[in-house]
Amino acid sequence: MKVYKFGGTSVGTPDRMKHVAELITADNEKKIIVLSAISGTTNTLVEIGDLFRLGNIDGALAQLEELRATYDPFIQSLLTKASNKKIAFKIVNQYFDEMHRLIHQPFYNQILKIIVINGELISTHLFQTYLNEKHPGSSGLIPASEFMYLNESEEPNMALISAKLESLLNQNTAYELHITQGFICRNCSGGIDNLNRGGSDYSATIMGAALNVQEIQIWTDIDGMHNNDPRIVDNTKSISNLSFEEAGELAYFGAKILHPTCIIPAQQFDIPVRIKNTMKPLAHGTLITSNQNPETVKAIAAKDGITAIKIKSSRMILAYGFLRKVFEVFEHYQTPIDMITTSEIAVSITIDDPKFLEQIILDLQKYGKVEVDVNQTIICIVGDMVAEQKGISSEIFKALEEIPIRMISYGGSRNNISLLVKNNLKEKTLKSLNSHLFNL
Ligand code: ADP
Ligand code: ASP
Ligand code: MG
Repeated sequence: MKVYKFGGTSVGTPDRMKHVAELITADNEKKIIVLSAISGTTNTLVEIGDLFRLGNIDGALAQLEELRATYDPFIQSLLTKASNKKIAFKIVNQYFDEMHRLIHQPFYNQILKIIVINGELISTHLFQTYLNEKHPGSSGLIPASEFMYLNESEEPNMALISAKLESLLNQNTAYELHITQGFICRNCSGGIDNLNRGGSDYSATIMGAALNVQEIQIWTDIDGMHNNDPRIVDNTKSISNLSFEEAGELAYFGAKILHPTCIIPAQQFDIPVRIKNTMKPLAHGTLITSNQNPETVKAIAAKDGITAIKIKSSRMILAYGFLRKVFEVFEHYQTPIDMITTSEIAVSITIDDPKFLEQIILDLQKYGKVEVDVNQTIICIVGDMVAEQKGISSEIFKALEEIPIRMISYGGSRNNISLLVKNNLKEKTLKSLNSHLFNL
């Protein structure tokens, strides 16, 4: 059994959806097919939810009807038989009618979660209707809301997911292809929730781990993980092999191609992850395994929206227990720390979630003078033994000659060197590092 996940662009047009059907039926292997929403739909659903939240009911409804209308030509060109078109229109209209009804109700936060998952519900139903037309009897739909459960720490409840998913598969043994939704889950109270933006990758790796499959394939619109952000830097190259650690660091530190935490389940259960390009299925893409490939620098990624907090205190000199007190403040507000650097009289810490920033500052002021810099970007240089390779650091510093650096974290892991720069210097930093480290 393998898990295949197709992103929004890969199912973004009727022709692409048909192409995905061809890809997954090219052999007779059993597969779980995880689909995202058709590209653009989730963004629009988020906007509709925002209009609703702000009380602009007419605006929300107008946008909802505009979105509904985009599905008409999609269905017309995806399906051939009138009976199947009728089924597809009925399904799509049911979802849109339900959202229409919700938007007429008094607003409460949970409605946003219920609205935003409709993209995946619709894409999977349309895709399965197409599969039924082309390959009758080959596929069944299993709703993610029936097995994808989070626990109290908002992490996947692996034991429950395994048990529920296996039981659903056992009820449908006749099918070779099991279609399901990415992104959608239930929280520990059973309420509808999601795995955050880009979460379908995470859905796929959770399912792969829960079933201990042979391989997880992430099919997207580019030929694997590139060595730098292709949206910012020209001439980036696909990386053929990455270790779980390297891929995990790149995903967490901003490589948008993978959801930030999606490598964790695959790494835990040692399941290879292959990133493939739907548009170029023969290209190698990237294979992520437990193997460390002893190369030097493999890739660079950037994560925006970072806040740096400096706590300066003469009491830190020769004092033990100071860092514990500082960390306890972040623990209290359940705010993860990304980078940390220390000197004898100060410690600098970065966070990417400023929700409790004001309270954190107030609490930290008990221990020293606090300074805050917002709009920062972490640039993460990833590879095997990056910090111990001779000559790498001098290349990095040459690349940074013209760039003011707020923090550097070096030697914390064998895979990562991280820098903190102002967000407006991100592009310059990525380009300069690229030419020094990859185009020597
Ligand atoms: P999907 O809809 O298939 O999930 P995403 O848009 O989430 O696809 O991710 C693919 C996109 O990630 C690429 O089109 C590319 O622009 C962007 N990207 C950012 N960093 C990288 C990187 N290091 N390597 C490859 N793609 C990257
Ligand atoms: N549809 C969701 C999003 O756009 C999940 C995903 O595509 O992975 O974020
Ligand atoms: Mg994605």
